[in-house]
Amino acid sequence: MAEKHVYKFGVDENGNNVTEVAGKTVDEAKWITGGKGANLAEMANIGLPVPPGFTITCQTCVAYSSAGNVWPDGVLDEIDVYRKDLEKRMGKKLGDKDDPLLVSVRSGAPFSMPGMMDTVLNLGLNDDSVQGLIKKTNNERFGWDSYRRFVQMFSDVVMGVDGQLFEDAINEKKEEKGVKLDTELTAEDLKDLTATFKEIFAKNVDSQAHPEVAPNGVAEFPQDPYLQLRLAEQAVFGSWNTPRAILYRKQNKIDDTLGTAVNVQVMVFGNMGSTSATGVAFTRNPADGTNERYGDFLVNAQGEDVVAGIRNTEPIADLPKTPGLEQAGKDLYRVFEILEDHYADMMDLEFTIQEGKLWMLQTRVGKRTALSALKVAMQMVDEGRISKEQAIMRVAPAQLDQLLHPQFDPKAKLDVVAKGMNASPGAAVGAVVFSSDAAVHYHNIEKPCILVRWETTPDDLKGMVAAEGILTSHGGKTSHAAVIARGMGAPCVCGAEALKIDAKAKECAITGTDIVLHEGDVISINGTTGDVILGEVPLVRPELTGDLETILEWADDVRHDASRGRLFGVRANADNPADAKLSRDFGAEGIGLDRTEHMFLGDRKQIIQTFILADRTGDKQTALGQLLKAQTDDFLGMFEAMDGKTVIVRLLDPPLHEFLDNPRDYAVALAHAEDRGENETQLKARRDMLARLDSFQEANPMLGLRGCRLGIVYPELTEMQVRAIAGAAAHLKKRGLDPRPEIMVPLVGTWQELKVERDQIEETIASVSEQTGVDLDIPVGCMIEIPRAAVTADEIGKYADFFSFGTNDLTQMGFGYSRDDVEGAFVPLYLKKKILKSNPFETLDYGIAKLVKMGVEGGHEANDKIVCGVCGETGGDPDSIQMYYDLGLDYVSCSPYRVPIARLAGAQAKINSNGGPKKIGE
Ligand code: ADP
Ligand code: MG
Ligand code: MG
Repeated sequence: MAEKHVYKFGVDENGNNVTEVAGKTVDEAKWITGGKGANLAEMANIGLPVPPGFTITCQTCVAYSSAGNVWPDGVLDEIDVYRKDLEKRMGKKLGDKDDPLLVSVRSGAPFSMPGMMDTVLNLGLNDDSVQGLIKKTNNERFGWDSYRRFVQMFSDVVMGVDGQLFEDAINEKKEEKGVKLDTELTAEDLKDLTATFKEIFAKNVDSQAHPEVAPNGVAEFPQDPYLQLRLAEQAVFGSWNTPRAILYRKQNKIDDTLGTAVNVQVMVFGNMGSTSATGVAFTRNPADGTNERYGDFLVNAQGEDVVAGIRNTEPIADLPKTPGLEQAGKDLYRVFEILEDHYADMMDLEFTIQEGKLWMLQTRVGKRTALSALKVAMQMVDEGRISKEQAIMRVAPAQLDQLLHPQFDPKAKLDVVAKGMNASPGAAVGAVVFSSDAAVHYHNIEKPCILVRWETTPDDLKGMVAAEGILTSHGGKTSHAAVIARGMGAPCVCGAEALKIDAKAKECAITGTDIVLHEGDVISINGTTGDVILGEVPLVRPELTGDLETILEWADDVRHDASRGRLFGVRANADNPADAKLSRDFGAEGIGLDRTEHMFLGDRKQIIQTFILADRTGDKQTALGQLLKAQTDDFLGMFEAMDGKTVIVRLLDPPLHEFLDNPRDYAVALAHAEDRGENETQLKARRDMLARLDSFQEANPMLGLRGCRLGIVYPELTEMQVRAIAGAAAHLKKRGLDPRPEIMVPLVGTWQELKVERDQIEETIASVSEQTGVDLDIPVGCMIEIPRAAVTADEIGKYADFFSFGTNDLTQMGFGYSRDDVEGAFVPLYLKKKILKSNPFETLDYGIAKLVKMGVEGGHEANDKIVCGVCGETGGDPDSIQMYYDLGLDYVSCSPYRVPIARLAGAQAKINSNGGPKKIGE
């Protein structure tokens, strides 16, 4: 069958539903008709009042764009058929001079995307049809208001004329008439304005660039409604590739090749008087999850008026009490229930009331903060709408980070200077900035900032991303700033009316005080309470309690449930008792990586330097003895903090010279000594020392004498470390504790290396066991981080009880990238040019994943009991965690703060790879 490019939704002329759906479920359909289109169709199908229309598919957009903005063959004809059909269904024609059909043209990608094209309303009006509209509604003012809005939107959105020109013209008109509000302008004024707007169009549209609107060489506002329609459709397709849409997709990891759909929908009017209105609502509170209807409406208004914060909105709870809107209000409350029952989720929706009748214009699963996601998921389990597994899938692990983000220290004294709405929770501290460019600048110089605006617009996206928090003086809880901040998880306080912002002068006075904030002044905002506070409030880490604790426990149950698939553990990377305890509190099931290198720093640097550089065996022995004592104490602390849980200790990994004095500093000291005329013997000793320090310098230290190579060259070091580990374990066992150390050999490339190390490790453990009389069973394994090791894992696995994949080195060596050098140098460019899909040091690359796969398979071939885990930074990245589960790893290990994220992501990975979440009763 030929590809279908257009789908219709809504009723026909007899009131019968004629919706065509593009997939079995909304989730399937949205890839074709976009989120907005798929949900309009769904609402029409469950009997909700949706103005009729049709949707042009996302695939059409992709074809159009990749052909260099050329319509694929036959599609324009196909659209024409649907347009005619819509005219027939409505019994009206676009551009008709007696009773014209008006439509809106709306973009709608598979994912909701602020930053896409603005909607064009009232399309189909021209000099003739405006008369028809006036006749039909008997409302001259409404007719001209609709037409001037259309000319304005079409010029701005479709033809790219500067919107300010129209605002200026309106203001001029108001001044001329001596009125303050738009609503005070008369029909005659609006008619004048329409003419002025058309002149602005003629002057500002480039006739060469847009010959279709300049048939006689001069640009003219297009009177042909079909041309209007086609240009608007093209503009929607074009908006897929505007810089702000591209930025948004990058921020939200949305695929650039999806395209957007176009929805053409019959207009309904919220601006037909006091029994008409328009509004935006959520079925529950998207900021904190409270089970309440949430949103705003405006009487006698159209389109974006609510979101733009132009007039003060009214809370949705007042709708059923508003004279003339009682029935529509009741109907809307009924729709809330129908939608939640149908979608089993918190929904957001847009509606318009035309002369008392409710129309649904949009719904989708509501964007929400982590706090709200969590609360709503728990409520819905309680209400019997969703299962625990579904609840687990409802909270995005990356979002969870918000809940673990710093909050104001509850003990801090707060100097609250203003209050706004608590639009997006969390605390933020930073310097005041008044523009997005300033926010980006502060971000670049690594100074935290708070973006302070009258209200934000889609152009502010980059500044909102750069800022720690967002503060506005206008707009309600569904304003642009609020919606975007919640989506990003940035703290936001909006509508703080006491702020009198003068962005040009870069200052902001606070009404009722004599405070004036200037750019750079530090403030704190609390998006959970709406407080604006002068100065810096100290921040503290929150604890895992309440709903968060509960959902993570559910996630743990899934990860540990053998009937639900392979067990999948979460461990932490920690190398001191405090971090070990923290990770335990965050739910880590063990330590996957205890690095020992930090144990050689500080005061101990001198000791190891003596060990390496001393000539006399006696000095070396003394140094080793000191190191042994110090390391034993370290391990006692670690094993005690993790009593009863695995602690994988990695033997010394970095190149030795990192623990030695810098030869350059030493050479300076020598030169000073020479100047001072020190005696020859002393100078000779200094020169010898410098020569030895120099001898440890390497051209490529990361590929030099480090890891197990070091332990093989200096067996005393390995012995000392193993003695400390085994000794600490024996000591704690005697005290009745249950220490569970495992010893990991780093940077193994051949099985021979591991064998040499293992023999020595086992010998040392046996000797400690004999000396202490304590039975010690300490598994020995290795890192798999050199490509050769991954490839020969079937050999290496014979000598390993476990493998731990070190994806940082594996990525460095697999790609041949030195991380420290490339991340700043060219990775950003590679991402932009799509040479890399994502930063391979943050998210496991699929090529490196192949190495991991070989490693896991080889390891199991050699030893079917081998335990495989990952301890690289990607071990805490949700996307990578999914890959690790699928690669067959037994656990991931990550930094303590990422442990809760990994617990949730691990459960989700398991659920995803085992048939998706079980629904209630399954
Ligand atoms: P966005 O994707 O930015 O939400 P929409 O396509 O939803 O843009 O359009 C924005 C607003 O325009 C809607 O919330 C609604 O108020 C108004 N609108 C869109 N289509 C219609 C229509 N057919 N009738 C009346 N108002 C409409
Ligand atoms: Mg919308
Ligand atoms: Mg390494």
